[in-house]
Amino acid sequence: MQIKPSLLSSSPGQLVFPHLAPPEPGSTIEVTPGILWVRLALPFLLDHVDIYLVDDGGGWALIDTGLGDRATKTAWQHLLDGPLRGRPLTRIIATHFHPDHVGAAGFLLQRYDVPLYMAATEYLQSLNIHLDPGALEAEHYRRFYLEHGLDAETTQRVVTSGHAYLKLTSGLPPTYHRVVAGDVLRIGGRSFQVLTGGGHSPEEVMLFCRAEKLFFAADQVLARISPNVSVTAVDPDGDPLGYYLRSLNALRREIPGDVLVLPGHNLPFYGLHTRIAELFDHHQVRCDRILQACRAGPKSAAELIAFVFARKLDPHQMGFAFSEVLAHVNYMLRQGTLAPAASSDGIGRVTAP
Ligand SMILES: [Zn+2]
Ligand SMILES: [Zn+2]
Repeated sequence: MQIKPSLLSSSPGQLVFPHLAPPEPGSTIEVTPGILWVRLALPFLLDHVDIYLVDDGGGWALIDTGLGDRATKTAWQHLLDGPLRGRPLTRIIATHFHPDHVGAAGFLLQRYDVPLYMAATEYLQSLNIHLDPGALEAEHYRRFYLEHGLDAETTQRVVTSGHAYLKLTSGLPPTYHRVVAGDVLRIGGRSFQVLTGGGHSPEEVMLFCRAEKLFFAADQVLARISPNVSVTAVDPDGDPLGYYLRSLNALRREIPGDVLVLPGHNLPFYGLHTRIAELFDHHQVRCDRILQACRAGPKSAAELIAFVFARKLDPHQMGFAFSEVLAHVNYMLRQGTLAPAASSDGIGRVTAP
């Protein structure tokens, strides 16, 4: 069922979902003429990624690829020999370096000799993980977790099983086509303005078709999930939450509220500005919880996890939770709402001044 965007004006503050269910495995949904939506499975708590095919004249421009694992490769074989048969891929646009988005690129490019479009930092980040996967378990990662108060056993589990998903890629070509914010991509008969945003990944690519009010949001704005915003050991003082909020503000300024949002997870929706407001509130609530906890005494990032996440976490989630809490802490340090606390045990803690 397709709900017309005009209905949005009668229900401000509500997200509107034109499709109440995702495509079945191995099948496609045409979200608008010449744009197909496919859902691929992920072996995580977040159990799917949404990818799109845009009519590019003689074939399809693919936006994101799914993981580089065996199940995804099998799913791709069924798609390419089934519903997509007869029209080749013309290019692959990978929105960011996370393996659920770029992981199957190497596999697909073995079948189709087409260019890979990425932002420079996303391409280099993905290439780096592929060329040097051991770095994710290296000493600087261990130290990063330990110095922020994570215990040795949890640290060990996070740097091994917690980082394993980052390696689920099938490789990258040695050359690529760089896309930069402000570029205009012609895909078939459509023009897309390229936007990039930080926070969830360094330079995530989003595509906006003004003429048809379509917005490929990648993971930057999702209907149900708050995109993960993580500090990494490589940039331990980084402010990804600050970059993320800056990006949301830019999207609110530059993209009209009545676009159809085609995201990397969850259902497509109308209500971009409403969802952006919810995401701001979500991060404000987390900052408030952290501030309250720190008023009772100095806390490390690891100690703050329990104040932000009530549920029990597996190593994969623990890695995300830790890095996400630290993102809030680093943001609040820069805002001056938290201050570093004196430490006698080598563990970094923060306090509410
Ligand atoms: Zn992502
Ligand atoms: Zn994703």
